[in-house]
Amino acid sequence: MKSVVTGYAAKALGQELVQFSYDPPKLKDNEIRVSVTHCGLCFSDIHAIDDYYGITTFPFVPGHEIVGHVSELGPAVSGLQEGDRVGIGWQGRSCMNCEWCLKGEEHLCTEIAEAGVWMPYGGFSSSTTVDSRFAYSLPPSMPSEVAAVLLCAGIAVYSPLRSFATERRRKLGIVGVGGLGHLAIQFARALDYEVTVISKSPEKEDQARAFGADHFVVARDKASLKEMKFNFDMLLYAGHGDNDFTSLLRTLRKNGKMVMVGFPPQPFSFEPVDLVVYQLSVTGSFLGNPRTMREMLAFAHERGSKPQIELRPMSQVNEAIRRVKEGKARYRIVLVNEPARSGTPATGKRQ
Ligand SMILES: [Zn+2]
Ligand SMILES: [Zn+2]
Repeated sequence: MKSVVTGYAAKALGQELVQFSYDPPKLKDNEIRVSVTHCGLCFSDIHAIDDYYGITTFPFVPGHEIVGHVSELGPAVSGLQEGDRVGIGWQGRSCMNCEWCLKGEEHLCTEIAEAGVWMPYGGFSSSTTVDSRFAYSLPPSMPSEVAAVLLCAGIAVYSPLRSFATERRRKLGIVGVGGLGHLAIQFARALDYEVTVISKSPEKEDQARAFGADHFVVARDKASLKEMKFNFDMLLYAGHGDNDFTSLLRTLRKNGKMVMVGFPPQPFSFEPVDLVVYQLSVTGSFLGNPRTMREMLAFAHERGSKPQIELRPMSQVNEAIRRVKEGKARYRIVLVNEPARSGTPATGKRQ
């Protein structure tokens, strides 16, 4: 009989999280149980509480930037031992059978809606259960809170920057300096892009430059945006607010590409004539495959790309959510389980 898992759940659409406890799911052959020490708060958690993706079931336990220690292993698990420190991102499993899984692109699994670590319950918990093939060993000297954020925000921006990096120094515009954007600046710099940050917050300029931005443009400054016409090879949209997408797309060179890693309010629009006449592409990029995840962790460690973090106890999850919604987090909040709950899951009150 396993100890009950305690965590924080939204009981209904858009509600504040409340303490919640549940029996841990039975381990499948390839699964591990991980005692959670750290979990980052991503804007996707907030979107999911509001059912932006249309897949949320309640009670919903968010959290998908997880670091912890293996506490139990299924019989088919290899390469991990009880006590090992591992990191887990949004993807906690995949079907292993579809065309994408078979070619090592598990993040594109046709059953992706079932693949999130949120299913059944995410990382704002004392413990979580995942397929061991989506639990990553971490560089031993990498702090757990740093690893946690790299596992979602890091991979989300590293993967497209890596795919589109070329020999020639490319001109890149990064839209938004939040959890994703502040890491994108660092990775882009390390990958030798010339980086321009486009942000709605002029007060973020100094920090954007400290992260490695070469230039800074205020998103609402139409004149400056206009000067950037035909400037960028690629725009990385790492925001979540509304933007003037027609003006943004006009900053792209012919054949340019806007890659979305953040989610703007639905739906968003732009001038279709530009798209055709300038041969532009608007595309998305979703996390990355396990191979890219391992590469990203090693690259971040080697190059010193790391998130700027506010640490808070897990019990302050609602306050943390408010800070992120108000755009006050600098730049990622990581929630830490109190020591009594990080080793052995404590018994919590069923709500
Ligand atoms: Zn995320
Ligand atoms: Zn699949």
